[in-house]
Amino acid sequence: MHGITGSGAIAPDTTGLNFYRADPSLSDLLQLYLPDALFRHIEPHLDRLGALAGDQLDQCARLADRHTPVLHHRDRFGRDRQWIEYHPAYRELERVAYGEFGIHAMSHRKGILGWPDTYPSAAKHAFTYLFNQAEFGLGCPINVTDGAAMLLSRFGDEALKDKYLDGLTQTDMALLTQGAQFMTEKEGGSDVGKLTTTATAENGHWRLTGEKWFCSNADASVVMLLARPEGAAAGTRGVGLFLMPRLLDDGAPNRYRIVRLKDKLGTRSMASGEIKLEGALAYAVGRLDRGFVQMAEMVNWSRLSNGVKSTALMRRALHDALTVAHGRVVFGKRIADQPLARRQLLKIMLPVEQALSLCFMTADALDRAEAGSQEAAALVRILTPVLKFRSTRDARKVCGDALEMRGGVGYIEEFAPARLLRDAHLGSIWEGTSNIVALDAVTRAVGRHHAEGALGAELHARLNESPAIPQGWRDRLRTLVDRAVAFAQSVAADPANEADARRATTTLYHVASAVMLAWEGGRIHERRSDARRLLLSRLVLDHKLGRADAFSEGSRDEAVIADLLLGKENVPLAVAAAYLG
Ligand SMILES: Cc1cc2nc3c(=O)[nH]c(=O)nc-3n(C[C@H](O)[C@H](O)[C@H](O)COP(=O)(O)OP(=O)(O)OC[C@H]3O[C@@H](n4cnc5c(N)ncnc54)[C@H](O)[C@@H]3O)c2cc1C
Repeated sequence: MHGITGSGAIAPDTTGLNFYRADPSLSDLLQLYLPDALFRHIEPHLDRLGALAGDQLDQCARLADRHTPVLHHRDRFGRDRQWIEYHPAYRELERVAYGEFGIHAMSHRKGILGWPDTYPSAAKHAFTYLFNQAEFGLGCPINVTDGAAMLLSRFGDEALKDKYLDGLTQTDMALLTQGAQFMTEKEGGSDVGKLTTTATAENGHWRLTGEKWFCSNADASVVMLLARPEGAAAGTRGVGLFLMPRLLDDGAPNRYRIVRLKDKLGTRSMASGEIKLEGALAYAVGRLDRGFVQMAEMVNWSRLSNGVKSTALMRRALHDALTVAHGRVVFGKRIADQPLARRQLLKIMLPVEQALSLCFMTADALDRAEAGSQEAAALVRILTPVLKFRSTRDARKVCGDALEMRGGVGYIEEFAPARLLRDAHLGSIWEGTSNIVALDAVTRAVGRHHAEGALGAELHARLNESPAIPQGWRDRLRTLVDRAVAFAQSVAADPANEADARRATTTLYHVASAVMLAWEGGRIHERRSDARRLLLSRLVLDHKLGRADAFSEGSRDEAVIADLLLGKENVPLAVAAAYLG
């Protein structure tokens, strides 16, 4: 149901909507990717988080966005102790994310929410996805705490793990120590090899001197950061990975200062700062000459999380647009019944479902890679930047278009869409801007690691596996897979083609999502006779891969497809198949 509250002439918003129950795609895909026992275990928790996100957490997010963090340089006794004051609403968001659901710890600590093992990424990110539909700002600290724990457990020595891993994965708020990742300097965000922070060895630890320019979760207790040991080579090869605690063993502050907090367009609830390192104590993590390579694992971890979080923003925006479209009458009809608005709703819906498919595909590949599959590792290598690139870019547009569905009120900060739009613009910047991520997909994943072969093989295997996909559609998708892979290879093969890296990445994304939507449609049809995702697969070809003729009328089929996809009834396979041309 859409439209819970509203007042007279103003369209309702999503207050009171359970974001889990309102999203059958999520439970459908979870049941495809998770063992039944795990799905059944987490479903009541997702249901609870869905209800919280649609109500109390959303209210907290609105308050935390308005009452932004304040940096203080002294405590009330006049001692030089920096601290950041957060609104109680932000503290409540933290309590729910870390304390109640333990999202940051699900990959590392057994027993979270009563499950006897750690969680696969596909399960963890279902929680990320629901939480971020209410609050995107805190999504970053949750993710970097999770990523810091991953880096420490993979590369830290035993003493360092003993000291810091427990706190990073605590769900007891009194014992939790949050993480952060400081890489970017004034000289270089993309070009990290230009960083100037130096590390000087001293009695088994290091002293750091320099400045970090963008430091989200600025007051975190455990910081993972890059610095160049004195005398090390220039560029990324000379950069080491360090763990820097906020407090020293005796409880005194470490020698670094938050100089100021950034005044940001979005994620305003969360503190991002500029930091001066003034001989700060730090410990080396892993091999010093592998610092950048090791940090890249955290970056990729975050890029998947970024894809999920952008998908969350898009889903929330879609919920809002549908709520308005069903709740407001214009020219004698609901907006949802106006043909042109129906087409727009379809255009808002499509990127959400594409992104959700690729989030699950990537998370599942990561789980298989961590279980030892080389093919899955290659798949993760290419899917992660492909997902991060396109989903974060789509989030900007989807959130803007959904905002417009609310008319002028959409532009007003009392309603969520304005916040969603501001937040959505960040996903494509941090953890690699769009250009950097597209180059990673094409130049590195394809050009250097030849990971496109694994993607092509995976997509063909999915098509082979699902008898419900009509033969003609399957053949069409097969041809597109081969063409997308060949295009990416030709762009990667010649530096003169670098300017096409974004196009090649986008094409891989759309083709992969068309295949996955068809595969999922077939599998969901087998389970509960609903083939709607097959129709979405067709829309990817029509809207994203076909070249529109500026003078042609739109497909008449599309009005029927809109009826089917915007309706609540199951779409029988025979009906879907009739529209797969
Ligand atoms: C709110 C916020 C929070 C952040 N939090 C953190 C954090 O916690 N930790 C952290 O380390 N960083 C953080 N960042 C920094 C962020 O990761 C960087 O800003 C980002 O990586 C870009 O780096 P830059 O700002 O130096 O821009 P630049 O690297 O100077 O890029 C400028 C432009 O040049 C383009 N460009 C660069 N290289 C190429 C190329 N080879 N080909 C084509 N185009 C290119 C980029 O795409 C971009 O459009 C944060 C940023 C923001 C906005």
